[in-house]
Amino acid sequence: MRLVLLGPPGAGKGTQAEKIVDEFGVLHVSTGDIFRKNIKEETELGKKVKGYLAEGKLVPDELTIDLVWDRLDQDDCKDGFMLDGFPRTIAQAEALTKGLEERQIKLDSVINIDVDSEVLVKRLAGRRVCLNCGASYHVDNKPSKEEGICDRCGHEIVQREDDKEVTVKNRIDVYKKQTEPLIEYYSNLGLIFNVDGTLGPDDVFGKIKDHLTQLKRM
Ligand code: AMP
Repeated sequence: MRLVLLGPPGAGKGTQAEKIVDEFGVLHVSTGDIFRKNIKEETELGKKVKGYLAEGKLVPDELTIDLVWDRLDQDDCKDGFMLDGFPRTIAQAEALTKGLEERQIKLDSVINIDVDSEVLVKRLAGRRVCLNCGASYHVDNKPSKEEGICDRCGHEIVQREDDKEVTVKNRIDVYKKQTEPLIEYYSNLGLIFNVDGTLGPDDVFGKIKDHLTQLKRM
């Protein structure tokens, strides 16, 4: 399967991505995770993108598009992938469409998790993540068993710099201006599957699972 996960920051893309990986074994490619890993390891790329992430701004398209194709052209992506956090602009979506055409492959579905802005700020402020394995938690809805420690890998869990309130508001503005138009872009391509992200995580996943199960049968 070749999928895109779309939705504003805080819609629950990370949580759903984990569930989709567990159930369908699809390879998860998150541009945000790739950028954060590079920042942590202080690579050249990490140094270039650090400022954008800290301010909740988008990394320039050209850099992001090259990075994604480098990743998608690796062998482990040959049987499919799920893009999370990419594309985020029309230019990125067009580059993805063009690159897929050149490689004679197609997207199967774009899953759009829909959530209202006010709910998002609340959700993001309580979010905690493991910087080691990427697992996500929430202080209210999904706390780790031991405070500050990842259930999955035992490393420290923290609040992401860009989950602080000012940055969160900026990220939501950026989403509205630059990423929301992708819903229409992919609707026009007949690829959008909309799911109400204000439902509980298991209900959201139930709907995604039905949809993907149907896709696999086709
Ligand atoms: P995420 O974890 O997907 O919320 O991404 C965190 C941050 O990484 C974003 O706020 C951007 O600064 C950067 N980022 C991730 N994906 C992209 C993308 N497709 N285009 C530009 N910037 C991105």
